[in-house]
Amino acid sequence: MERLALVTGGTRGLGKAIALALRDRGCRVVATCRGEGLEAQRMEEECGIPVEYWDVADFEACRAGVARIRERLGPVEILVNNAGITADAAFHKMSEAQWWDVLRTNLGSMYNVTRQVIEDMRERRYGRIVNISSINGRKGQAGQSNYAAAKAGILGFTRSLALENASRNITVNAVAPGYCDTAMVAAVRPDVLQSIVAGIPVGRLGEPGDVARLVAFLADEAAGFVTGATFDVNGGQYMA
Ligand code: NDP
Repeated sequence: MERLALVTGGTRGLGKAIALALRDRGCRVVATCRGEGLEAQRMEEECGIPVEYWDVADFEACRAGVARIRERLGPVEILVNNAGITADAAFHKMSEAQWWDVLRTNLGSMYNVTRQVIEDMRERRYGRIVNISSINGRKGQAGQSNYAAAKAGILGFTRSLALENASRNITVNAVAPGYCDTAMVAAVRPDVLQSIVAGIPVGRLGEPGDVARLVAFLADEAAGFVTGATFDVNGGQYMA
């Protein structure tokens, strides 16, 4: 049977492109998001991808959500931890809520969701996990100390989980996208966005497909020797 993939935040932006790329490569895909909306409805009706609704910052909701999927479709074999938010502010003006909302959603979700699938993967000796980090977790970004901390944390999490599970044929990798054309980036002020694009050597924002094609490769059985790595997809904007 086709591999079962779970893509958090898979109803729009990068997550949607990832979900579609996995579907097109023959996976059975489930997408998640926070709340019902037009994007989620389209995902189900137009793309034929079922959507589950829960908050990735809430451990118990993740436990119940993954249990529902397991009961209906079986154990998750491919996990893409993609859901994420921003709540930008200069650190000296950042509220506690801005700090913890971003940490809980972007980093806490790594524990909350991955913990629900890892035991099945270990038992069945197969798994592909791809965690979506960010260029700003690699290089830092003024106004994003919360986001950069979470996205950098994902890289340490990825390497440690990769080491723990390599012998079980479970690979764990991180993808660090640069600025891509999604709602998250559309929220950036136009003049700021213009200066960001000017700093991207390929001269454009990334398309969701640019990220999705790499994630689909990492999620493939054929990528079994690739683990613990971080892949930059940023048009040359930052070369580590
Ligand atoms: P979008 O804002 O377009 O979509 C975010 C998705 O995540 C939505 O499906 C949203 O659900 C879901 N989501 C957010 N918070 C939660 C939550 N608490 N629980 C469940 N689902 C949640 O984001 P992008 O596609 O732009 O970004 C996707 C990932 O890529 C993020 O982790 C982001 O940090 C990262 N990234 C994006 C870059 C970019 O340029 N776009 C650059 C670098 C990294 P809902 O629709 O219900 O809100």
